Amino acid sequence: MLWNSRGRRRPISYHSATRAVALLFVVSLLRAQSTPVPAAPQNQTASPTSSTPTQSGQSSPNQALPLPTQPVSTAPKPLIVIDPAHGGTESGAVLNPAILEKDITLVVARRLRTDLGARGFVVELVRDSDVNLSTDDRAAKANAAHPALYVCLHATSESGWIGIYTAMLPDTGETNGPFVDWNTAQFSFLPQSRAAQQEIAAGIQKSGMVVRSLAAPLRPLGNVTNPAVAIELAPTKADVSQLPAMDFQQNISTALANGIAQFLSSSGAPR
Ligand SMILES: [Zn+2]
Repeated sequence: MLWNSRGRRRPISYHSATRAVALLFVVSLLRAQSTPVPAAPQNQTASPTSSTPTQSGQSSPNQALPLPTQPVSTAPKPLIVIDPAHGGTESGAVLNPAILEKDITLVVARRLRTDLGARGFVVELVRDSDVNLSTDDRAAKANAAHPALYVCLHATSESGWIGIYTAMLPDTGETNGPFVDWNTAQFSFLPQSRAAQQEIAAGIQKSGMVVRSLAAPLRPLGNVTNPAVAIELAPTKADVSQLPAMDFQQNISTALANGIAQFLSSSGAPR
């Protein structure tokens, strides 16, 4: 819209400067009235039916540009909550005198956050520093975030294989109206958790590492009201020095990210 500000309408006989401005106003107004206005600005899109290009390959002022071939998705990105187990005064396993489990889980969690973020997911860490958290704190944080997947990370130097765990629960979860029992809160999410377990195990297998899928009464898995798995990282040759090595951590993180992405894709989560 041109020149429609009422505040500029002042008498033109005050002095020459005001007169000059008034003249410019009138000239511009006349030009605006006499210049053909394009039907659609060139930086706007219009219906696909008006997007046929001319034979010369040049667009006319009245011609709209074609729609982008890749529509931008407005669906929310899936959220993944990653929980680096242990922390603070609770160091977890002492993998060797210089390598604590709490440090390995945190650094791999940060790396996995980067890898999943690069794949278009939103990631939250339950802890992003060296702090104490109870398993109830961890479950409460995960449940409040309502993620598409909760992943708890542990590490060991002993097994020689990477373990993917789902919760081991009684056959039926207890319910009381809209409330679920804290200890069996995971019950109705177990099928999705097992699907995630399967895809993550497949991702690790593809990377050449040994993996096992198990169920165990691990906390806080049973308390989580979302698809949930725990992953115990381990060096491939029982060589504990692999765990803090950057290339080993990156291989694991990539394999985990691939498996998680595959699970979210097959479960219909928006991308
Ligand atoms: Zn642990």
